[in-house]
Amino acid sequence: MTIMKTVEMAPQKRIALIAHDNLKDDIVKWCQKNKAVLKGHFLCGTGTTSRLIAEATGLPVKAYKSGPLGGDQEVGARIAEGEIDLVIFFSDPLEAQPHDPDIKALMRIAAVYDIPFANNRATADFLLHSDYMNSTYVHEIKDYSQMTSQRVAALGNAIAKDEA
Ligand code: PGA
Repeated sequence: MTIMKTVEMAPQKRIALIAHDNLKDDIVKWCQKNKAVLKGHFLCGTGTTSRLIAEATGLPVKAYKSGPLGGDQEVGARIAEGEIDLVIFFSDPLEAQPHDPDIKALMRIAAVYDIPFANNRATADFLLHSDYMNSTYVHEIKDYSQMTSQRVAALGNAIAKDEA
């Protein structure tokens, strides 16, 4: 039986912002256009993207490391720790990135924790104009801590049997 747990996102969202180099200009313009909405939320993101957005909008944006230097992995870790509510990622569909495996890992961990993930501008627009942006959103995700305890018990028993 899958054990679920209820996770609540507060009205003030913790938003991670990321853009590949060819889309940095686009995400900066998108943030300028949506500044009135974004200023009501907590913003963070990969190093270069965060700094460009902060400079252009005057909004505080917590900067992790640059994407190719581990920033996408830091964002993924914050998701796993329950510290990020949604991701806006203007990704480049036409150019391979040196850190493609990190981006894949970020998308996977966002799926694990049922995190809204916009990977283009239109999806970002839909997300930002969702009623959930300004209200509490409640969702059910798998309770992985319970699953881990069950796995430890099952695998521990198997090891004990082998040793007997
Ligand atoms: P950057 O990283 O904001 O530091 O450029 C973005 C990315 O993942 O490419």
